[in-house]
Amino acid sequence: MEPRPEYDDLTIGVVALQGSFAKHAYSMGRLGIKSRAVREPGDLKLIDALILPGGESTTMTLLLEQEGMWEPMNEALETLPVFGTCAGAILLGQQIDDERVRCFNKIEYTAERNAYGRQIESFSTSLIMPSLLDHDFHAIFIRAPKFRDISPKVLQLAVFGADPVLLRQGKVLVASFHPELTEDSGIHKYFVDEIVLKSR
Ligand code: GLN
Repeated sequence: MEPRPEYDDLTIGVVALQGSFAKHAYSMGRLGIKSRAVREPGDLKLIDALILPGGESTTMTLLLEQEGMWEPMNEALETLPVFGTCAGAILLGQQIDDERVRCFNKIEYTAERNAYGRQIESFSTSLIMPSLLDHDFHAIFIRAPKFRDISPKVLQLAVFGADPVLLRQGKVLVASFHPELTEDSGIHKYFVDEIVLKSR
């Protein structure tokens, strides 16, 4: 891959309280982009964008509150670009069908948890994303949410059947699947090139 000088001074934070944070760091590493684990409020000052990974949205809500991260993150996300995957996408939404989960209200939809069924009904599929990639993306869905009541302000970048699965509103990108679990960093690259670098 060509070295990209504009990546040199970028640091992407990955919330590392629970869930698949290490894999997101690998996805960025493959692009030659540094990442940093975000575990306490001070970490938010050292990054150019944030990834909120998958995991369990109920547990992530509790951990973010316990670690005193909720308010600082909510404030930081007023300006910081963010990429939420699966549970991360649930937390970034406007509403959620489960009162144990708190929402950052940064992208306008209601998230329905575990909408494709339980762990055993996890699956993978090939998705086309013509506005992002010139190839199909192998998408892995693990107890994935569905997004309902999506605002017309939200861009739908990929669908699976009738379900939008990759969405963007301004500096907020979300996927209901796990792009960090494949060898393809194409969606991470889109996040950095089209959202992080362009909002600097
Ligand atoms: N089902 C989980 C939740 O509701 C999300 C699963 C995931 O992130 N893979 O939080």
